[in-house]
Amino acid sequence: MLRICSSGVTRWFSIIMSDYTSRIMDQVRAKNGHETEFLQAVQEVLATISPVLAAQPKYEANAILERIVEPERVITFRVPWMDDKGNYQVNRGYRVEFNSAIGPYKGGLRFHPSVNLGILKFLGFEQVFKNSLTTLAMGGGKGGADFDPKGKSDNEVMRFCQSFMSELQRHIGPDTDVPAGDIGVGGREIGYMFGQYKRLRNEFTGVLTGKARNWGGSLIRPEATGYGTVYFAQNMLATKGEDFVGKVCTVSGSGNVAQYTVEKLNELGAKPVTLSDSAGFIHDPAGIDAEKLAWVMDLKNVRRGRISEYAKQFPGATFYAGQRPWGITCDCAFPSATQNEINGAEATTLIKNGCGLVAEGANMPTDLEGIDVYLESKILYGPAKAANAGGVATSGLEMAQNSQRLNWTREEVDAKLKSIMKNIHDNAQSHAREYSADSKGDYTNYVAGSNMAGFVKVADSMIDQGLV
Ligand code: GLU
Repeated sequence: MLRICSSGVTRWFSIIMSDYTSRIMDQVRAKNGHETEFLQAVQEVLATISPVLAAQPKYEANAILERIVEPERVITFRVPWMDDKGNYQVNRGYRVEFNSAIGPYKGGLRFHPSVNLGILKFLGFEQVFKNSLTTLAMGGGKGGADFDPKGKSDNEVMRFCQSFMSELQRHIGPDTDVPAGDIGVGGREIGYMFGQYKRLRNEFTGVLTGKARNWGGSLIRPEATGYGTVYFAQNMLATKGEDFVGKVCTVSGSGNVAQYTVEKLNELGAKPVTLSDSAGFIHDPAGIDAEKLAWVMDLKNVRRGRISEYAKQFPGATFYAGQRPWGITCDCAFPSATQNEINGAEATTLIKNGCGLVAEGANMPTDLEGIDVYLESKILYGPAKAANAGGVATSGLEMAQNSQRLNWTREEVDAKLKSIMKNIHDNAQSHAREYSADSKGDYTNYVAGSNMAGFVKVADSMIDQGLV
């Protein structure tokens, strides 16, 4: 199944395409050649689902791949706003409504200067499969803008959010499309957007998730992506009879996902030693304990500062400017920053240094060459669609509470999150066992397993609903 290419890296992805998946990949390339992240996300899925396509000819007969790679609707719009100096500013807003076969479109909004249609299509495509894995009734979507909240005042962010929602409100609704946060969109931005939606529509509904507790938010939603990723990793470790006690963990990012990953790792007896942002990473060999994490949360969420300040505050720590943490020796790695933050060489370094588990809190943080390295090494690798699905799953729980007009306790939501992550793990594992030739003994190819499990539910639902 594996082949070594000239760089010494196994080319797992290039050799398992069937005629059907190759033909669709060629078409996707021809139509979307410049959308490199979208092509990467599609290739990862198509390269892993051939076994179910071969076993079930109905998918090709119903042109499921042709349809599933095409968003149902793409909306782009102008977002004009005024900065604090009175200057007019214009950004581009988007919502990609990718697939509604199993529920209303659901997925976050990203505000970051790198946002473009290709990035949002990759995120929307991944969201379709991820949401399917959660077992909840959510289709897939994603949106955002090329707006950079970094360095903006609260008033500027508010004016931007109000302008963004003035257009987005006509396309979304609690039974149509339910956005949430992603990079650059947290509680503050969700609040401003919710306020504007309510003013324009005169409706108090669960149209966004990630709301504050006082006005319809769910307990555990802020923690859910990070906690869920660690729960998923715990399930992977259990297949080897291991736990987190004493394990050294590298974590990238320093936003919501990274923060709650560190919190849960500490609770389970692991030692998280790194955090990062776009300027570099900090390494604290003594461990980022609960007290230091509280300081980081204040730095990032209240003072909106930079992670380099950690090394000034805690003398045992070092800041490495312009670098990523994958050269630090660890047992487990939690990429929790952004897409393509681990390449083939970095994946090789991680494994050479003894890393035996990678669980992806960010979306598509490892490039295809890096994934090849994980699969060849047969480490425990939890791909993003499965490992970080706890965030959107808890958004699904927020939607359920909003519909019931009830609030569940912290313990109830956490217990549901834990059981959803175990179901995702077991479902990926059983699909890998059934269809993926390399999943034998105590090894599971979770990429193949989760892509197939996510795909089958959406594809069957599309067939049930006819040619729409
Ligand atoms: N942006 C998150 C994700 O990538 C959460 C989406 C949501 O809660 O709708 O899954």
